[in-house]
Amino acid sequence: MEKKKIIVAIDGFSSTGKSTMAKTLARNIGYAYIDTGAMYRAVTLYCLENGLFDGDKVNEAELQQRLTDIRIKFKPSAEGKNETYLNGRNVESEIRSMEVSDKVSIIAAIGFVRRDMVRQQQAMGLKKGIVMDGRDIGTVVFPQAELKIFVTATAAVRAQRRFDELRSKGDTDVTYEEVLHNVTERDRLDSTREESPLRRADDALILDNSHMTISEQNQWLMDQYERIINR
Ligand code: C5P
Repeated sequence: MEKKKIIVAIDGFSSTGKSTMAKTLARNIGYAYIDTGAMYRAVTLYCLENGLFDGDKVNEAELQQRLTDIRIKFKPSAEGKNETYLNGRNVESEIRSMEVSDKVSIIAAIGFVRRDMVRQQQAMGLKKGIVMDGRDIGTVVFPQAELKIFVTATAAVRAQRRFDELRSKGDTDVTYEEVLHNVTERDRLDSTREESPLRRADDALILDNSHMTISEQNQWLMDQYERIINR
């Protein structure tokens, strides 16, 4: 008998390692993995490259007009890693820069941008068998998801993880304090915005991974998945 397919929704604060967990689960159970943060990051990169920002202000009228010209796709690399493409160009590393991180929560607070991203995300999950991570997956995108997780960790732990990741990719200009500021500021903007703010769905399980190893988190998530699947 074929195993039943579900939707796994993983939400939570910035730099909690959500995507690492989500990716590992998806690989282990043969599901598709969608990083919705990458979609908001790609729109932000588009705005930066096309002069739609004036400081922290974005030209919303212009962005709304151009929204249909912003095509975001995910394609696997030779190593099987899902990479983000913006209008046919691989932008996987550019969307992770501090410049994009500093502006992405401004773009993610715009209602018409969210509605467009949510529509695309819902279409990707029509057949289930998907692990999606973001901020509003369990509350707005898939409120009916069979498994919902809300991931959190202390800001200091999260900033250190993001800092180490940037360093390991060769970004030596950024300081720990800048990363900590970015992480806490994004959490503040994401939690206080009017349009689908970051919050835990009532039926989401909380995972505080401040003091967990990656393999402990992966095991915990796998256990939750199996509990649902075998129910
Ligand atoms: O997950 P990541 O940290 O890459 O997300 C970048 C930003 O995109 C978040 O800080 C948030 O502003 C926005 N986002 C969102 N809703 C999602 C995913 C990401 O608002 N579902």
